[in-house]
Amino acid sequence: DVMVMYFGGVAELGDKKRIFSNPRHPYTRALMSATPSIFEADRTIKIKLQGEMPSPLNPPSGCTFHQRCPYVIDRCRSEEPKLREVDGRQVSCHRAEEVGDMDA
Ligand code: SF4
Repeated sequence: DVMVMYFGGVAELGDKKRIFSNPRHPYTRALMSATPSIFEADRTIKIKLQGEMPSPLNPPSGCTFHQRCPYVIDRCRSEEPKLREVDGRQVSCHRAEEVGDMDA
């Protein structure tokens, strides 16, 4: 299993093959897109995150990733996503069901 963390919280947790082949958290997707590969077929479009890590002294409301997330919606700014099961792994994202399929 692998655990992907952001700002001290779990973004995604579960079987490494499942997560590496189709990440469901936007932060995991950005990390995976930054991984170099010698194989053409494994190369994906790079997801460049905007902005900086938030300050622990002034944590953002809602999802701690919302200021940098390319998938952000209004709900993310006010409601903290809970870790929940989506597609056979644990993910803390309101849009986890959609995220993996959007880029496919
Ligand atoms: S909850 Fe919203 S801001 Fe947080 S990772 Fe998911 S889509 Fe992005």
